[in-house]
Amino acid sequence: MTCEVHAWDLSVRGAHLDQTHAFFNGTSVFLRVLGQESAPCLVELLPPEGKAFAAWRVATSLPPAAGEKGGARRHGFGLYRAADYDELIDHPVEMGTFTLIAFDACGVPHEVAITGRHDCDAERLAADLKQVCEWQIRFFGEPAPMARYVFLVTAVGEGYGGLEHRASTALLCARNDLPYPGMKGLPESYRTFLGLCSHEYFHTWNVKRIKPAAFVPYDLDRENYTTQLWAFEGITSYYDDLALLRSGVIARQDWLDLTAKTLGNVKRAPGRLRQSLAESSFDAWSKFYRPDENTPNAVVSYYAKGALAALALDLTLRAGTRGRTSLDDVMRALWRRFGQTGGGVGDDDLRQIAEELSGLELGRFFAQTIHGTRDIPLEKLLAPFGVRLEWAKAKTPALGAKTASEGDELRLATVYDGGPAQQAGLSAGDALIAVDGLRVTAKNLDALLGRRRPGDTLAVHAFRRDELMRFELTLGAPGDDAPRLDCDKSANALRRAWLGG
Ligand code: ZN
Repeated sequence: MTCEVHAWDLSVRGAHLDQTHAFFNGTSVFLRVLGQESAPCLVELLPPEGKAFAAWRVATSLPPAAGEKGGARRHGFGLYRAADYDELIDHPVEMGTFTLIAFDACGVPHEVAITGRHDCDAERLAADLKQVCEWQIRFFGEPAPMARYVFLVTAVGEGYGGLEHRASTALLCARNDLPYPGMKGLPESYRTFLGLCSHEYFHTWNVKRIKPAAFVPYDLDRENYTTQLWAFEGITSYYDDLALLRSGVIARQDWLDLTAKTLGNVKRAPGRLRQSLAESSFDAWSKFYRPDENTPNAVVSYYAKGALAALALDLTLRAGTRGRTSLDDVMRALWRRFGQTGGGVGDDDLRQIAEELSGLELGRFFAQTIHGTRDIPLEKLLAPFGVRLEWAKAKTPALGAKTASEGDELRLATVYDGGPAQQAGLSAGDALIAVDGLRVTAKNLDALLGRRRPGDTLAVHAFRRDELMRFELTLGAPGDDAPRLDCDKSANALRRAWLGG
């Protein structure tokens, strides 16, 4: 049987083919033969014909079919092998003239294949990634669970995304996020890229091997529902930046700033008071991955709030046991009991393991943090660690909406529940035209609001579709959603064990 696939999706989850390269996930191109999922597969990758493609090679963690006639050499075309269908679809493949960067982490060969135009400083990237990867391998314990590992990076003008696999990850980044020769320090853009690499790499353990019971085995016929995405994405989001700090790639204050940013993002979305982390996890298929203008009002991110829940659990364990037990111990226990055995993690297993290791009673913590919607009391939890959390007020009175500019238009992307814009009758999608009779744009909105005080009423003109409408909007108090984290001067032993000196 022959089948032809339309490949024009340049996302980490699709397949894309043009004259510059080819990228595919097995899920996009390999049909499943019902009843033969456990049979081994051979895949023949053929080079495109023509001189223009003579330099093309292959990057993938799929092993070449050694010993087979026509078996590929490393990075070559030819036959590759997968033990079964599950493995066949878990090794994305890149073909083209990518840059190949190799390094070794704890004896495991690692590669970065970068597709797209870029000026990446290969040495710098290899040195930083090696540090992060080695820290993670040692965190869970040697030997690493994979024989080799490949970062498949597609560099574009603008883009961001990652998808984890058992021995590789597909990443999409802005080419300017990559380090360049002669770059000083660690710009935010590059730090973001390293955070993405760290995140997907941590998944090699947490979700690719330590899996929720609902994913064992994964049912490809339907959505697989679990209340535990907060643990697999949230804990991974907590450790992605923490690994940058603990491996020495970023400084302590950098990490505190990143965490403060997450705190602010969670606080700004009223959906956190409506939906618990367990619900957000379960509804990912119908809500989180189908966002609309009301998502911030209705949904809490199991990534962002999940990372804060992981932080809160870590702090609770460390403070409650005077530093004897931490989330690190829980992760390693999950790895030994589930990751290395292949069993699925049940809904109560994480809590039970944390209780068993710490001797603490955590029923209330899980009820409030994972199944409840109240804000996590991080000020209180951080205090024993000598870390202060302060919420600063925003500089301008509140409009109660998130704006986005589209060309010349200033649109309301989200109108927050109960906020001034909603009370005035404005809706998401409305295009703001004028405030108090003066033209308003993305550029002058903040300056315009900065000259007004909370309680002031503005005349707002906006288009809804093609109808001009007028609103009276009374500005609200500035939001206190700009948090700041810093350490006191004390030599705090708990903090030192957690974040280093
Ligand atoms: Zn993730």
